[in-house]
Amino acid sequence: MKLDHAGSCSCGAVNFRVVADSLASYRCYCSICQKATGSEFSTTVLADEADFKWTAGQESVREYRKDSGYMLAFCGVCSSPVPNQFRGMPFYSVPAGAIEGAPQIDLRVTLFKPEADVSEAGNVEVTNFDEVPSLNVMFDLLGVTAP
Ligand SMILES: [Zn+2]
Ligand SMILES: [Zn+2]
Repeated sequence: MKLDHAGSCSCGAVNFRVVADSLASYRCYCSICQKATGSEFSTTVLADEADFKWTAGQESVREYRKDSGYMLAFCGVCSSPVPNQFRGMPFYSVPAGAIEGAPQIDLRVTLFKPEADVSEAGNVEVTNFDEVPSLNVMFDLLGVTAP
């Protein structure tokens, strides 16, 4: 069954929909993705062109291209990564984090994954919070001393 997923950038200017059976995705750990996202990896859903539709704000989309063919699309207002056409093919690269409502992301592929995935650091204890903890609790867990 196809599910209808809404997506947007952080400021809400750019909006899109993906209507698909599943959100098949890949994680890329390359240095460009690390710099572009400010994180250890990017997570991208590859959507069929037929399953993807801009619903608002396409005129706010800006693009950055590297000579290698790498292309990053982002909102010109808030700089959030937004979908872009995958290398001129009938697919859209959709940043997983731009899709609303924490959908089920179906991870299929990882690229350039380092030996030890720092995001899954197995030898470090990770504490999860479902609500924002107090700053002092955060500082304590991050090993810094509150001012
Ligand atoms: Zn925006
Ligand atoms: Zn990459």
